[in-house]
Amino acid sequence: MIAEILSVGTELLMGQIANTDAQYLSRRLAELGISLYRHTVVGDNPGRVKAALLEALRRADLVVTTGGLGPTEDDLTKEAVAEAFGLPLELHAPSLRAIESFMAKGNYPMAENNRRQAMMPRGATVLENPVGTAPGCIVESGGKTVAVLPGPPRELKAMFEAGLAPWLARRSDMCLESRYLRTAGVRESDLENRLRDLFHSGNPTLALYCAPGEVTARITARAETPDAARALLEPVEAEIRRRLGDRVYGEGMDLTPEAVVFRLLDERRQTVSFAESCTAGLLPARLVDVPGASRVLGESHVTYSDEAKHRVLGVRRETLAQFTAVSAQCAVEMAEGARRISGADWAASTTGYAGPGPADDGTPAGTVYIAVAGRDGTSVRECHFPGDRAFVRALAATAAFDMLRVALLEAR
Ligand code: ATP
Ligand code: MG
Repeated sequence: MIAEILSVGTELLMGQIANTDAQYLSRRLAELGISLYRHTVVGDNPGRVKAALLEALRRADLVVTTGGLGPTEDDLTKEAVAEAFGLPLELHAPSLRAIESFMAKGNYPMAENNRRQAMMPRGATVLENPVGTAPGCIVESGGKTVAVLPGPPRELKAMFEAGLAPWLARRSDMCLESRYLRTAGVRESDLENRLRDLFHSGNPTLALYCAPGEVTARITARAETPDAARALLEPVEAEIRRRLGDRVYGEGMDLTPEAVVFRLLDERRQTVSFAESCTAGLLPARLVDVPGASRVLGESHVTYSDEAKHRVLGVRRETLAQFTAVSAQCAVEMAEGARRISGADWAASTTGYAGPGPADDGTPAGTVYIAVAGRDGTSVRECHFPGDRAFVRALAATAAFDMLRVALLEAR
C-alpha cells in the first residue's frame, strides 16, 4: 500500500508550528509496513486542499490528512474530501451525541459550528476522538482511501492509535515487529561501521536515528504472523546487543537514559544527588520528568562559582587553585561532596566549559568533566563535546546519566 500525508494548516506554511503530526504518522506508517511516498502541506484554502487531495489520490492508495477538523470557518478538510469524492455530507447522529456530551461535561456552550463537526461524507467510517470534540473519518471510494485526522497532536495520536492503526493493520496481510535499541555515547558513524554488514539484509531492516548523545537502532521484521516476524528479528537483535555490549541502555522508542537510571535506583531503593556546574539544573530536571522521581531524588545542588563549590560541596581551595574548577579533581570532589552532604547512595557531578569561546586559560569549549561517586568509590571522565552551549549541556547531561547507569550496573 502506497500512502501520502496531506497536512492542512496555514500556520504550517507560515512557519508558526513544525509539522510534528507528519513526523509521527511517518514513523507509525513505516512500522505498519505502509510505504510513504510524499508529504504535502497546504494552507486552509478549500480550493487548494481539494486540488492537493485529488493530486495525491492519483499517486497513492491511501492519503492521510491532518488538521482542519475544528469548528471554525477555516476548518474545511472534510468538506474538501467530500467534494473530491463527489459525496454529500450527512449528519452522523452518534458523533453529534458524543460532541454534545463532551461539551456538556466541560460546561461549554454547544454552537451551530459544533454540529458541523458531526457532518460526515456519506458512507464514511467514523473515527472517534477520545480526547477532543472533532471526530475523524475514513472514506473509501474507487479503490482509494482518505483518512481524515485532527491537527492537535494529542488528538491526532489518540485517534491514530485507537482508530486508524487497527483499521490499517486489519487490512494488511503482513505483520510487522520492531525493536528500538537505544544507545548512548557512540557516534552514528561508529555505530554504522560496527553494524555495517547487518544493513544489507532486506528483512529485517535496520535503521539508525540520532538525538544529542544518543543513537537508536531500529530493527523491523516483516512476516505473516507476529511469531514469524519475531523469529526473524530476534537473532539480529541479539547480534547487535552482542556487538554493542553496555552501550545499549535499553529497548523502546520513548526510553531515556534517565528513565533507566531511575529504574535501577528504584529497584534497589537507592537515592542519587547531583552537583552541577555547567549543566546547571539539567540533571535533576531530566530525572524528575520520570514519574516517581521523588523516591530516588531528595536534593540537588547547582554550584556555579568556585566559592559555592567550596562552601556548599566542600571542594578544597587547593584543588581549585591548583587544577581550576574545570578539572577531574574538582569533578570528583563535587560528586563526593554532594554524596556526603545529601546522604544519597550515589552522586553525579558536571563541571566544564559550555562555550561558545574557549576558557581564559585556553581550554576549548565543550571540555566537561563528569564524576560519579558511590559506595565503592568515584569514577571520572573527561569529555570533549561539539556544538553550541545548549548542545554541550545536553550532551553532558546524557553522558552523566550514562555513567551513572554503568556504575549502577557494575555495583550489582
Ligand atoms: P481544532 O479543533 O483545534 O481547530 P483542527 O483539527 O481543526 O483542530 P487545526 O485547526 O488545523 O486542527 O490545528 C489546530 C492546532 O493543532 C494548530 O494550531 C496546531 O497547534 C496543531 N497542529 C495542526 N496541524 C499540526 C501539524 N501538522 N503538526 C503539529 N501540530 C499541528
Ligand atoms: Mg482548526
